[in-house]
Amino acid sequence: AKEPVRVLVTGAAGQIGYALVPMIARGVMLGADQPVILHMLDIPPAAEALNGVKMELLDAAFPLLKGIVATTDVVEACTGVSVAVMVGGFPRKDGMERKDVMSKNVSIYKSQASALEAHAAPSCKVLVVANPANTNALILKEFAPSIPEKNITCLTRLDHNRALGQIAEKLNVQVTDVRNAIIWGNHSSTQYPDVNHATVKTPSGEKPVRELVADDEWLNTEFISTVQQRGAAIIKARKQSSALSAASSACDHIRDWVLGTPEGTYVSMGVYSDGSYGVPAGLIYSFPVTCSGGEWTIVQGLPIDEFSRKKMDATAQELSEEKTLAYSCLN
Ligand code: NDP
Repeated sequence: AKEPVRVLVTGAAGQIGYALVPMIARGVMLGADQPVILHMLDIPPAAEALNGVKMELLDAAFPLLKGIVATTDVVEACTGVSVAVMVGGFPRKDGMERKDVMSKNVSIYKSQASALEAHAAPSCKVLVVANPANTNALILKEFAPSIPEKNITCLTRLDHNRALGQIAEKLNVQVTDVRNAIIWGNHSSTQYPDVNHATVKTPSGEKPVRELVADDEWLNTEFISTVQQRGAAIIKARKQSSALSAASSACDHIRDWVLGTPEGTYVSMGVYSDGSYGVPAGLIYSFPVTCSGGEWTIVQGLPIDEFSRKKMDATAQELSEEKTLAYSCLN
């Protein structure tokens, strides 16, 4: 039998946490043969709710769940974890300045980085979900210098999956037959969902999405804005955020990273830029990647047209400004 893997979820008493922890305990994230020990962290005001989640996890009698650590102590939470999903963050409230929200999150991610650096497994893989996800991940990277930079990522897989879903709906095909959409840049409304390299499996072979949709106007406008604004549309409909799909895509992100992507398929991950595609090095930016042996690699050599270039640059610009703002909060 496999040794259990310790998986940290921060903000575990929140909406996404509530959807995410049962998925992890059922093997959706790491595989149906991989036992897990869940480490759940939240802040003291949420301690009672966190204990309620722990009670439900016990009651669900998950066969793969070999232990539960539910705590408000960041060191206890981080100790020995090999996977860390950072969902906790300070929410933007009405009337708050961008700088105030950033400042709260910079201090949270700085202290959690130090705890991970000192107490997590050396090869720990980190996924930041809490917004501003890319910049929180960058702060975490800066303050956990002994964690390899390749191990610190942020979530854009939800946006990626939303893009696949929109194409599948438009063409009335199965979502599993659509692949290689790309989310470039920030997990914000400036992200660029790009279908120029996406394909659909058809009875007569793999066909480009552009050819099958044959409606460039829709692909260049409504498709992009639907994906960009999907989170807001769900809040409007549900009066609550898109916690289910966020949790599911967080599992997809870690699963593919650890277990690998299928041959010929790429997925979107926010990763530390090495300057690929002219994206400034030193930002956490969403790229198309393939994964194998527990490592991601940016897909290279895709042709970029002028329309895409502008959108990729605009979202990079926003991230550079967020980075500057985040650094100004450090002082
Ligand atoms: P959620 O679980 O709904 O969201 C958590 C974070 O994920 C938010 O930053 C949210 O961003 C972000 N997010 C990213 N993608 C999505 C998506 N597709 N849909 C929804 N959210 C997304 O928030 P809750 O308030 O329910 O829970 C947060 C938990 O974190 C609470 O239990 C709280 O106690 C804890 N917390 C921990 C702190 C700490 O560790 N020091 C500090 C503050 C809170 P956005 O805000 O943009 O919606």
